[in-house]
Amino acid sequence: MNFLEERILKDGIVKEGNVLKVDSFLNHQMDVELLDRIGEEFYRRFEGVRVTKILTIEASGIAIACAAAKYFQVPVLFAKKSKSVNIEGDMYVAEVESFTHKCKNQVIVSRKFLLPEDQVLIIDDFLANGCALQGLVSITEMAGATVAGIGIAIEKGFQIGGRVIRNLGYPLESIAIVDGMDAKSGTVTFRAQ
Ligand code: 5GP
Repeated sequence: MNFLEERILKDGIVKEGNVLKVDSFLNHQMDVELLDRIGEEFYRRFEGVRVTKILTIEASGIAIACAAAKYFQVPVLFAKKSKSVNIEGDMYVAEVESFTHKCKNQVIVSRKFLLPEDQVLIIDDFLANGCALQGLVSITEMAGATVAGIGIAIEKGFQIGGRVIRNLGYPLESIAIVDGMDAKSGTVTFRAQ
């Protein structure tokens, strides 16, 4: 079992509706030492891959992306969520449906920060149905940039996102893959990696 799986077992809380709460260490209160280890693990898993920029989505992806950026020594760019329909022409826009909040957001990235020559490592905290990730992939491709890799802290392997993204051929690395969880007993099981 790796360090993140151990932490999920210790402090993660399984909620009804297939939601895993990790807000005591990852996406509300944050354990910076753990974030650093996550960043280092992404660097290890994508060793030798050329990365010029890390792309994530606000809010909870930002901290992990920054931890990784310290190792890759590249800038972090985060897609902003916006409900506004009046998007100026200098933005890339993708529509993303939130798994946890059950609403649709537009996510936007300024064109000036994503260039065709960029080799983009996309990073996020969770992968569930893959909607957030597909938004980030499509923004990368709208810019003519390349998806160099995708790093996820926690993938919920029983939801469809991971399979869809892997089938599309993107190199996807998830540090912890949850294969099952049960709100009544609070148990979480991981895929062997
Ligand atoms: P997706 O678009 O893959 O369905 O969902 C990804 C986004 O939803 C992530 O960025 C994350 O913020 C949120 N999310 C999905 N499932 C969970 C979960 O079980 N727990 C938490 N805390 N966030 C989740």
